Amino acid sequence: MLRLHFWGTRGSIPSPGSQTVRYGGNTPCVEVRTSEGWLIILDAGTGIRELGRSLIDRANGAPIQGDIFLSHGHWDHIQGLPFFAPIFQRGNHFTIWGAQTTEARVERIVRDQMSPVVFPVSFEEIAASIDFRSVLGDSLEGRGYTVSATEVRHPGGAMGYRFADGNGRGPALVYISDNELGATEKYDSPGHWRDDLVRFVRDAGVLVHDAMYTREEYDHHRGWGHSTYHDVVALALDANVERLVLFHHKPERSDDEVDQRVDECKALVRARGGTTDVIAASEGMTLTL
Ligand SMILES: [Zn+2]
Ligand SMILES: [Zn+2]
Repeated sequence: MLRLHFWGTRGSIPSPGSQTVRYGGNTPCVEVRTSEGWLIILDAGTGIRELGRSLIDRANGAPIQGDIFLSHGHWDHIQGLPFFAPIFQRGNHFTIWGAQTTEARVERIVRDQMSPVVFPVSFEEIAASIDFRSVLGDSLEGRGYTVSATEVRHPGGAMGYRFADGNGRGPALVYISDNELGATEKYDSPGHWRDDLVRFVRDAGVLVHDAMYTREEYDHHRGWGHSTYHDVVALALDANVERLVLFHHKPERSDDEVDQRVDECKALVRARGGTTDVIAASEGMTLTL
């Protein structure tokens, strides 16, 4: 069994305010726990700050360790890391996983956001031990879960991840935070990229996926690396997903608008005779699969 807790659900930039209270204003961060209690963190947006405080409370003085999977290095997915208090405690250990092809880049990006011209505390002042690994190149043996990764369509590159508890036979969690499903010449993905993606997502218990735009909005943002509600629902149905979680909400999207979009997505599922459940990720929400 995997247990998810959403600490940040908003895309692009933190969006606090009275219109975003319910779904939340923090940028992407999801805590995942395996049945053995192993800690997995998906992205290090501003939501990771509160997660850090919670982890310290829960640890009650014991060392904290876990795996942090970064989908990519854009600000909204790394900007919380310098405020993740457990990295400033000796004895804690974190592995930061990135794409095989961009491993060095992920380490450099994380270090550079703590360079003195942009941040007052340097990477060298981190007291926890941190190592950087590539998800496709290293074995995860002994951690009590399986993971696979795929490149998705996003400017600068981004990764989608598929996790399963234990030996990998249980229901899968697929996390694809930033991905453009719409037609665009922006990426040099092969002609069968969508078939490959459907295979990667196939039969997932939960699919957490970028859902930034309405179709009207997308017309003005083609090539920016994000998806429409329609395209995400189509992917979930084609891949026989049990539950679709709309994620990476547009900063301007109010709580009431998110509610409307969820209703529209449910109607799309019904119109196609599908059974996929659709919900929107909200800060503080917990799911198990
Ligand atoms: Zn993003
Ligand atoms: Zn991005």
